[in-house]
Amino acid sequence: MNAIADNPLFGHDRLPAFDRVTAEHVEPAIRALLPKMASDLAELEKTIAPTWAGSIPRLTALGEAIGYAWSVINHLMGVRNSPELRAAHQAVQQDVVTAFMSLGQSVPIYRAMVALRDGGEWTKLDETQRRIVTANIRAAEHSGVGLTGAARERFQAIELELADLSTRFSNHLLDATKAFALELTDPADVAGLPVSAKRSAAHAAARATNREPAAEAAERGPWRVTLDGPSYIPFMEHATRRDLREQLYRGFVTRASAGELNNQPLIDRILTLRTEKAGLLGFTSFAELSLAAKMAPSVTSVEQLLGELRTAALPKSRGELDELTTFARARSRDAALTLTHWDIGFWAERMREERYSFTDEELRPYFALPRVLDGMFATAKRLFGISVRAADGEAPVWHADVRFFRIANEAGKDIAAFFLDPYSRPADKRGGAWMDNALDRKRLVDGSWRLPVAYLVCNQSAPVGGIPPETGTPSLMTFREVETLFHEFGHGLQHMLTTIDHLEAAGINNVEWDAVELPSQFMENWCYHAPTVLGSPAQPGLARHWQTGETLPRALFDKLIAARTYRAGSMTARQVYMSTLDLELHHRYVPGGPESVIEFQRRIAASGTVIPPLPEDRFLCGFSHIFAGGYAAGYYSYKWAEVLSADAFGAFEDAGLDNQAAVEQTGRRFRDTVLALGGSRHPLEVFRQFRGREPSPRALLRHTGLAS
Ligand code: ZN
Repeated sequence: MNAIADNPLFGHDRLPAFDRVTAEHVEPAIRALLPKMASDLAELEKTIAPTWAGSIPRLTALGEAIGYAWSVINHLMGVRNSPELRAAHQAVQQDVVTAFMSLGQSVPIYRAMVALRDGGEWTKLDETQRRIVTANIRAAEHSGVGLTGAARERFQAIELELADLSTRFSNHLLDATKAFALELTDPADVAGLPVSAKRSAAHAAARATNREPAAEAAERGPWRVTLDGPSYIPFMEHATRRDLREQLYRGFVTRASAGELNNQPLIDRILTLRTEKAGLLGFTSFAELSLAAKMAPSVTSVEQLLGELRTAALPKSRGELDELTTFARARSRDAALTLTHWDIGFWAERMREERYSFTDEELRPYFALPRVLDGMFATAKRLFGISVRAADGEAPVWHADVRFFRIANEAGKDIAAFFLDPYSRPADKRGGAWMDNALDRKRLVDGSWRLPVAYLVCNQSAPVGGIPPETGTPSLMTFREVETLFHEFGHGLQHMLTTIDHLEAAGINNVEWDAVELPSQFMENWCYHAPTVLGSPAQPGLARHWQTGETLPRALFDKLIAARTYRAGSMTARQVYMSTLDLELHHRYVPGGPESVIEFQRRIAASGTVIPPLPEDRFLCGFSHIFAGGYAAGYYSYKWAEVLSADAFGAFEDAGLDNQAAVEQTGRRFRDTVLALGGSRHPLEVFRQFRGREPSPRALLRHTGLAS
């Protein structure tokens, strides 16, 4: 056991000592920090003053040490997981969550905030400070702090029941997904499947009977196909047996809709309780409550956007279905073929192969990580005037593959740093990609600045063998992995290029949920920008063959561009349908009324889908984003943020993508608004400062080929 003084989870103004942190440090650190936080909170509740200095900075300071330790622990849970770490995390998690809840629901702190807002000092606060106080008040109110007596008790009971319902919802879904499988034994049953999918299906069959899969099992079977995405999707896209696709599809859309695992009664109960909760907090619907903390100003404004997208996407989606039908009839030599749910994915893949035939493998040699990084950093320099330089060895890392970089401004002064953990490590690293704060920008006691530091985590293919190019191969990326890297770098830039002095609103802190994906999706656009990818006289492109140095052939790049808008009408229509369903369920639907959720879904589908759902469709019973995740009355956020990011890129198109001076000027403006201001202003105001007007969906419609 380490002495507290040596515990590397302390010392929140420094970069975490990843070379020294072990699972053993977790409990001693948290057990020491929790009582400290509790006594600080008790002290603050007694002495908090309704002034800025007397409240917010003290509140922030109070959670800082434990927040730092907890974020380092959670980061390691994602990138260096182990049974020991998980056990230590598990042992303290509940207590940490409870401690932060009691902070967020403290009545004396809430009262001081309200007094600050309603008192004389308010007019002397700047806009950033006011937004921070307002956000604190709102968060406390949404967790029921303003309620008293029976209303407060009822609110707590609702929260507990909702938490339980969402856990049960996702458990049902998980169990129902596990309970269904197609057990296949005839090679004709898996005809059309790629080898990788056959291999996984054979492995799944072996696992189900506790056998070791035979070496030739991929080709000989048996195979087991399930409703899990990695099994379901390839089968729907490639299996030639139409009847089996139908069985699988029907299994998918009726998951968790019958018997013990039926989610439908849970949905009714969740919607009823959410409506009641919103009512207790003074809102007319749960959607109004959800939107109160988001960028979208009102339910009407979201409906308006969804309506515009629907109007553009639905006719296009019908046209895409006709086109696909023609294609499928010709290829299948069945002139009467009518495409339905279980045919779309299959024929869409055949048409994609014919039109945009490229494989990840063809592209990979042109996207070697070192070159892609050089290209991405060159883009950041061109747009934002920042220089990124490798600084490996200047900070402790959690794995030998992790890189460390520093960012300097135009004057050459260091302003930020970031870690990049690029490769997949299934044994101890979570899947997916994300950006997280390692340190926030903050003024220290001695007057100096603690610079912001970010974690950028991806899961791309690792280099193979020795050190390239002598003996091995560098990390060769798929195009999707390149986009992901740009995406996370975009999040990171908003964290790192902040100029906000109050850390509560610096970087991504205090940014509304539906605006968070603006900088990240914005950066993805540059992956489709020819000079960035293929190079220009001003800079080399990021897509160059790792051995020959040859630039990505123009024809391949053109296919990438074309594939971006492939079936965009259908994709958009689907997202808009799901967003509308979510919003309407939380705004207009009356739980317990004469119309069941299923009837309600059918009504929404009638005006929002091209092929109506099957009568037995119970898609809602598997819609965990809104019933077991954080997206309730917020599913629209995906589209909302896409409007912003596309429109932001539109500013560069308007200025002229080939006009270096204009691109630079627009880039600096993006840096000084979207990237610099973080959560210090309302995102609509930030957007207006950048764009000079309100956001418009025109650019998104144009980029996705839904408007010219
Ligand atoms: Zn993101």
